[in-house]
Amino acid sequence: MKELFLLKLGEIVLKGQNRRVFEDKLKTNTRRRMSKFGQFKVTITQSTLYVEPLNDDCDLDGAWEACGAIFGIASMCRCRACEKDLDAIFKTVVEYLGDELSMQKSFKVESKRSDKRFPLNSIQISQYVGGELGQFFNVKADMHHPDLTVYVEIREKYAYIHTPSVPGAGGLPIGMGGRAVSLLSGGLDSPVSSYMIARRGVELEMVHFVSPPYTSQQALDKVLELARLLTVYCGRMIVHIIPFTEIQEEIRRNCPEEYFTLIMRRFMMRIAERVAVEYGCGALITGESLGQVASQTLQSLAATNEVCTLPVYRPVIGFDKQEIVERSWEIGTYETSIQPFEDCCTIFVAKHPVTKPNIK
Ligand code: ATP
Ligand code: MG
Repeated sequence: MKELFLLKLGEIVLKGQNRRVFEDKLKTNTRRRMSKFGQFKVTITQSTLYVEPLNDDCDLDGAWEACGAIFGIASMCRCRACEKDLDAIFKTVVEYLGDELSMQKSFKVESKRSDKRFPLNSIQISQYVGGELGQFFNVKADMHHPDLTVYVEIREKYAYIHTPSVPGAGGLPIGMGGRAVSLLSGGLDSPVSSYMIARRGVELEMVHFVSPPYTSQQALDKVLELARLLTVYCGRMIVHIIPFTEIQEEIRRNCPEEYFTLIMRRFMMRIAERVAVEYGCGALITGESLGQVASQTLQSLAATNEVCTLPVYRPVIGFDKQEIVERSWEIGTYETSIQPFEDCCTIFVAKHPVTKPNIK
């Protein structure tokens, strides 16, 4: 039988009556992600998403990597299925993991039997398969610190053989948490905050402000590249590119310098809210982190919030810069974010911006 993937569901299993809806969404999302790697069958049974290639043309490595970015999955493994019979299990382990096993000094077998009709219990299965493998490969069984653990799962239809699972992307399926507008700049913070809110199942509509000629085409390309990197997790998205030059010039002409950034931020939020309403989004998301810059103090954030009615969520509000950097590295946006291009927030900045504004 061919290799397939078992993806174990995360928090979805805690959803009582709604669980089916979450599962259906997860299946749809997974089918869409898999479609560019070939034909796959995607099903859910017993808290597990089965992703099976339907023919030899499938790009299994590409599909496996894409599975690692699907929100809603707690852990995942590549495995081989076989008939539920001890001989078949032993033969499959030899075929599938033989090369790996013969290179180890020690191993153990761990079994799980969710099909209770299977005549042996999990300890007996491990003892039998482990005993046969030990003899065949001449490797030592070690229950405490094995170099390799071989897993045998007896499930409804087949037995499945695999090595240890790896963590999945966690979170909830995209689309289950509603829709929000995320304000995406070219910096480190907003790609991470977009990722974090998307991981809770929120579908994103991106808004990016440009101020040509003060901001360049390269700066815009960089933001589009960040959005493209985020689609790996978030799926398809629209980036609304909003010309902002006139507003910024008007602020520069008419406002006290120390209020430039704050007033500009308020305009950004007003416009983002218009987009949100037009596109049926229930919240605004930004990459602000408390105290990072003058416009991100409690007082400044309150003054910014004051112009909108929709809730504004800031997933990285409590993160240190270093933590944001680590996250951006993990999700793959770091290298792009650190490219040095100007953002409309970095032009017309005051030497001494207010840090404790009041609305009045
Ligand atoms: P980032 O690293 O995300 O750029 P930052 O710490 O540089 O954030 P600011 O430049 O003050 O902070 O921006 C705060 C937030 O405002 C950003 O995280 C982003 O959500 C939003 N924002 C800033 N500039 C833009 C822009 N040009 N277009 C859309 N949103 C923006
Ligand atoms: Mg910025």
